[in-house]
Amino acid sequence: MIKPAQIQWSDGAPVSTQFNDVYFSKASGINETRYVFLQHNQLIERWAQSEKTVFTIAETGFGTGLNLLCTWQQWLENSRPDQTLHFVSLEKFPLNKDSLAIALKQWPELKIFSDALVEHYPELVAGWHRISLPRISQQAGHVVLHLFLGDVEDWLNEMSAPVDAWFLDGFAPSKNPDMWSGHLFHTMAALSRPNTTFATFTAASQVRRGLQAAGFKTLKAKGFGKKREMLYGEFYAAQGPIKPQWLNTSPWFTPPSPCVKSKQAIVIGAGIAGCSSAYALAKRGWQVTLIDKHQQLAAGASGNAQGVLYAKLASDMNMQSEFYLSGYLYSLALLNQMMPDKQNWDDCGVLQLAFNEKEVKRQQQFCQRFNLEDVLIPVNAEQASEIAGTLLSNGGLYFKKGAWVNPKSWCEALTNHPNIQFVSGHEVTDIQQLANQSWQVDVKAHGQASQTSTQSFTGEVAVICNAFEATQFPALSFLPTSPIAGQVSSLNGNSVALNTVLCGDSYVTPSHEGQLNFGATYRLKSSDCEIKAQDHAFNLEKLADNFHSVAEQVTPKEQLNGRVSVRCSTSDYVPIAGAVCDAQAFKQQFANLKKSKHWRFYEAAPFLKGLYLNLGHGSRGLSSAPLCGELIAAQVNNEPWPILKRHSNMLSPNRFLVSQTIKGI
Ligand code: SAM
Repeated sequence: MIKPAQIQWSDGAPVSTQFNDVYFSKASGINETRYVFLQHNQLIERWAQSEKTVFTIAETGFGTGLNLLCTWQQWLENSRPDQTLHFVSLEKFPLNKDSLAIALKQWPELKIFSDALVEHYPELVAGWHRISLPRISQQAGHVVLHLFLGDVEDWLNEMSAPVDAWFLDGFAPSKNPDMWSGHLFHTMAALSRPNTTFATFTAASQVRRGLQAAGFKTLKAKGFGKKREMLYGEFYAAQGPIKPQWLNTSPWFTPPSPCVKSKQAIVIGAGIAGCSSAYALAKRGWQVTLIDKHQQLAAGASGNAQGVLYAKLASDMNMQSEFYLSGYLYSLALLNQMMPDKQNWDDCGVLQLAFNEKEVKRQQQFCQRFNLEDVLIPVNAEQASEIAGTLLSNGGLYFKKGAWVNPKSWCEALTNHPNIQFVSGHEVTDIQQLANQSWQVDVKAHGQASQTSTQSFTGEVAVICNAFEATQFPALSFLPTSPIAGQVSSLNGNSVALNTVLCGDSYVTPSHEGQLNFGATYRLKSSDCEIKAQDHAFNLEKLADNFHSVAEQVTPKEQLNGRVSVRCSTSDYVPIAGAVCDAQAFKQQFANLKKSKHWRFYEAAPFLKGLYLNLGHGSRGLSSAPLCGELIAAQVNNEPWPILKRHSNMLSPNRFLVSQTIKGI
């Protein structure tokens, strides 16, 4: 659980009562940041000379974000439009949004930056928050803030990308000794490369010795203001290469970066997973060919009129729940950014109703254990009825910003990018890796038997997003996915009063384009898309049982319409996202897993370099697929990943190769 900062104010500046220390120098916080962190990491000079498109800064202690804002201001004047600054920062006790806004009022010259930060400041939920900050100038590079909420010790195992410059902030070592640990310095070394620099306001000998022991050359400079000395320096790895922390004993979770020369990518499947993967690559400068057998975007499971965006959380907040919560928050931020007019989605809130005893108990347990009041609150039946604008017999959990989304409109917004070419009506017949390691994808016009209209596309990266049909490719036949067809029903909903989405063991959304949509059925292991009267009957029965007051308002049942689509489920109900290994080579190389699943391996795994998957999202793709698209693009580009390591391990397609090898399958 995240505990907000305990602060008091002194002349408009925050002072931590936990650490009895100031967040910034009251004399001149901006000048201190510029002097200590920017100047002593030689950022302006390095940016001016840099050919690279990505620069990564990592900071301990986000605090008010002043260091970020000053860096962003300099970046604006010293970067090119094709460059991205990744600013990674960690914070154990975040300020709440109101305090942040008050603290940043100190700096009118940074107003344009602080307003943007306050607007995009995340909910205070543990883990990574990937915040794409708005472009203030088209002439300058982009800035992405990766804010990790949690303790430095947890964060150290979570960094996944090399760092160019370190800002060692955090309260003084004398007041906060736990943060300045040997573990921190050694992880810094593991994430550094030649030319990686660091700077810190302190010259404490504990810090100097720790950095030296980890392989940093340390120099002293005059400290800022009244401080006598400060430290800066660079990584030189006297003791030879250090094994990265994350290169652990499960090498199948650590994909290599693909060879990138032409930045051409192919994405197969144009549902929400494919469109968000294409978008994530396109915005990083990749030329993306998006292929689908249908003539339109979102013609499969992403084609319903209204999908529900919320996160179903287990009472013990397990890994899946943590991941879905991150995905839910990420999708909401993306929608707000991409579709601000809210014509085709609405964050009207979602009520997850406690529709039986088991669900009541689950929700009670959850609320006793976790406080996520920025995201969801428990409500009784009376409160739920008031929120929904209709009489409800159960209380539940209220996701304040939960939403319905028209997924097709979202797919259109995601692919409306000059770097994305949509090849519609073409079916992929084969994918193969060429001798130069790029991927060739063969297609033919959908529905045509002859091969006369065959075409091929090549790319350094291929992302497979065609749901349960991915197993048609021999390299992916090991994936335990299965189709689940499902029917949604709709009725004329013009006169239905409903303010929020309602979920129980079925759902109903506020009317959209005159239709009230509700459902859905689950036909296990079926890809049969026929509309069935019995499925309509089932949906109507659930509507009447769960949301009686809504069912009473709808017009005669003859006007019933429906749509069937096929979702892709996995054997463990967890989506599949990330880089994939060669199944046969994997099973040979790691055959010792059969002897013990705890066997340790240090050699690299046989990845199919450049091949990634984003599929298996079941009926929850709106909250999981966009974040998975972002994960893949971050892996491809060797950037900090947007989710926790344990989450990316959980999503990795290679988890199935591990379990199959253990079982000798
Ligand atoms: N860089 C900040 C800025 O620009 O405003 C100032 C940082 S402030 C001096 C130090 C920050 O480190 C505080 O926000 C504090 O909550 C955070 N911090 C202290 N100990 C921590 C720990 N163990 N893990 C993560 N953050 C920690």
